Amino acid sequence: MKLVRLIYVSIMTETCDTEALEQILKVSRRNNAEKDVTGILCYDPAMFLQCLEGPRNVVNELYTSIARDTRHKNVTLLEYAEVSERLFGNWSMAFVSMHTVDPATVTRFSQNGKFNAFMFSGAEAGNFLMEIAGQKQESLALQKTMHP
Ligand code: FAD
Repeated sequence: MKLVRLIYVSIMTETCDTEALEQILKVSRRNNAEKDVTGILCYDPAMFLQCLEGPRNVVNELYTSIARDTRHKNVTLLEYAEVSERLFGNWSMAFVSMHTVDPATVTRFSQNGKFNAFMFSGAEAGNFLMEIAGQKQESLALQKTMHP
């Protein structure tokens, strides 16, 4: 089985309100746990940055489905790589809201004073997600989404 990591960024559409966001998380955690997919979803009021890790065919199919979802647009692939281990193996879908991220980290990952995940390289996107997951360890440990 080939294990892959995929990271994309997208822009939330008007149809994505708080209720829709909760629904996305609920369905993601259910489906991902069934399909051996793990990852993290970072959200700010305008943008999604998501990492999906799992068997190649499953991640490919899931990404195709996610890219068609009308709750976001401008879905832009930042990284797709075959990997030997998972970065977010403990979560079927960890969730971090950008407003809870340490401002110094946001500044460090900003360019010309602006945070714009669409400008990330694949490596930068991975590093940013790992950094915020590290900072949010306590709250993420409470998320009942542990991967079996
Ligand atoms: P169903 O159980 O058939 O539907 C799930 C619910 O979502 C239903 O209530 C349905 O009405 C609603 N829904 C589905 N599509 C839309 C839509 N386009 N607009 C409004 N409501 C809709 N899915 C995963 O399985 N794993 C993920 O990690 C994942 N991450 C996502 C990240 C983002 C940013 C977005 C926008 C979506 C994500 N999704 C994810 C959802 C994915 O796009 C599909 O909706 C989902 O995989 C369908 O699964 P299902 O057939 O089991 O859903």
